[in-house]
Amino acid sequence: GQKVVLITGCSSGIGLRIAVILAKDEKSRYHVIATMRDLKKKDKLVEAAGDAYGKTLTLLPLDVCSDESVRQCVNNVKDRHIDILINNAGVGLLGPVESISIEEMKKVFETNFFGVVRMIKEVMPDMKKRRSGHIIVMSSVMGLQGVVFNDVYTASKFAMEGFCESLAVQLMKFNIRLSMIEPGPVHTEFETKMMEDVAKMEYPGADADTVRYFKDVYLPSSIDIFEAMGQTPDDIAKCTKKVIESNNPRFRNLTNNLYTPIVALKYADETGGLSVNTFYNLLFNFGPLMHITMSILKCLTCSCLRRRTISPN
Ligand code: NAD
Repeated sequence: GQKVVLITGCSSGIGLRIAVILAKDEKSRYHVIATMRDLKKKDKLVEAAGDAYGKTLTLLPLDVCSDESVRQCVNNVKDRHIDILINNAGVGLLGPVESISIEEMKKVFETNFFGVVRMIKEVMPDMKKRRSGHIIVMSSVMGLQGVVFNDVYTASKFAMEGFCESLAVQLMKFNIRLSMIEPGPVHTEFETKMMEDVAKMEYPGADADTVRYFKDVYLPSSIDIFEAMGQTPDDIAKCTKKVIESNNPRFRNLTNNLYTPIVALKYADETGGLSVNTFYNLLFNFGPLMHITMSILKCLTCSCLRRRTISPN
């Protein structure tokens, strides 16, 4: 029969593409329940889904930050039966820590960390009873490696990685799989939204040097990296479909092979010095040429540092 897939955060970006690709599966193997906070934002998804809308794709409202909304949404699924849960909803946060209030930081954790925990708590008991299920979590390269001026976002993804790494062990006993997808930069509204937020920011509390490093050193190299190395939401959706359809799905799934040496540095030097120094040099000494430097790094590193990624094709 058809597998029921529930996806969070489907009004845009990666979530929208995953919903469309699964709903349009040539063998109709999936019934997709695409969820979003505000159903008024459904038009882009409905348009992209075409014929699948109303057949293999249905919509439900869901805010991962609300206990009530999560419970109602899952109660509205027939028999509360969800075969595959895709935790995609997430928010970014960029800037000097001095300028960000603790309240804003908590909002990021509320969505990126507690949002996922809330979903899993609601869906997992039924999966355990049925001794089957697959939970997918949209992590990030930043769930494995810290990135300057992304301190809080990175921390929220690290928190989730730790949570999943712990949970995966007991889930295995119940025949439930848990997989994380770890994309590098992806061209979505995520980056646009963040850049807009950054433009509006006045950086209260941050000193002039810090603001200068952020605006004049970090931001241009970050934009450069997105342009040179960014994948499309479609790439990530195809990787996710591959993970779902694998007989033996991997726990970790990096999608961008230009990032594997960067991630491997911390395992190559247990003192952490190699990671911190490499990032320092990338940012402050090679800033404008960062993506070229990263490509060279990839070519120079030995195969043990070039870990296997999951590819969209
Ligand atoms: P996006 O902003 O287009 O999509 C995020 C979606 O989550 C949006 O539709 C948003 O409305 C939704 N959302 C936010 N808060 C929510 C809430 N409380 N309840 C329900 N939905 C909520 O960006 P995206 O790039 O498609 O991001 C999807 C996921 O991919 C995120 O978890 C993000 O951290 C991760 N990711 C993105 C990138 C990137 O470069 N874009 C890289 C690695 C990982």
